[in-house]
Amino acid sequence: MNRIPLPSLRRLPRYLNVLEMLLSQGRKTVSATDIAEALDLKPIQIRKDMAFTGIVGKPKVGYDINELIKSLRTFIGWHDITPCVLIGAGSLGTALIGYEGFAKRNLRIVAAFDIDKEKHGKKIYDTPVYPLEELSTLIKNKKIEVAIITVPPAAAQDVANILIAAGITGIWNFSPIEIRTPPEVTVKRENLSEGLAVLFVQMRENQLKPFDPY
Ligand code: NAD
Repeated sequence: MNRIPLPSLRRLPRYLNVLEMLLSQGRKTVSATDIAEALDLKPIQIRKDMAFTGIVGKPKVGYDINELIKSLRTFIGWHDITPCVLIGAGSLGTALIGYEGFAKRNLRIVAAFDIDKEKHGKKIYDTPVYPLEELSTLIKNKKIEVAIITVPPAAAQDVANILIAAGITGIWNFSPIEIRTPPEVTVKRENLSEGLAVLFVQMRENQLKPFDPY
């Protein structure tokens, strides 16, 4: 199968949201046109994206919603529970631990780590907070593959180095620095400022556009 392009991959969770909503309303089948309308996209785009995942709709019937949800979740890797660790149990770390949406996607933050002694032995929601020194052992013992970094920028590379040495292969980096990793480690940077920059520039561009109803 061809490698899925990033824009298509980014749309898959949006499709899941629409499908789950339709399912909760009692719908059993859905067409590419229905999904396209809900998301302001073109039906051809939906079909192409779905094809990357190996899912094909039936002519006139469309897609069975349950099957489509299952296939999308399996394709993304959200069909099974993925345990992960979080490093930096501060404001953002706490918000992420408390976010119920991750449970829906089968991501379980099983342990948090921090250098602040005040936080050790406490729980954030149901997640225990441990000293940083215990990070490597827990990763190795529980065979954890994914880690979330929510430490201040100055600490992010050091934390990443510990994670990599312990065997982590996927890092979701919320700190604003580019962390350096070997090629076999996948890093996904997350930065809300990028969305904010797009909002501001597009607002300005839209206001500059002459209004043309035709
Ligand atoms: P915070 O100060 O509330 O939390 C940081 C936590 O990290 C603290 O609990 C601190 O004790 C801990 N810590 C510091 N050094 C550590 C180390 N070496 N090992 C383990 N724990 C350590 O800060 P915050 O507001 O939660 O922000 C955390 C990070 O997330 C920062 O890098 C910030 O820039 C980033 N951030 C990113 C976004 C985004 O859009 N991606 C949004 C908000 C914050």
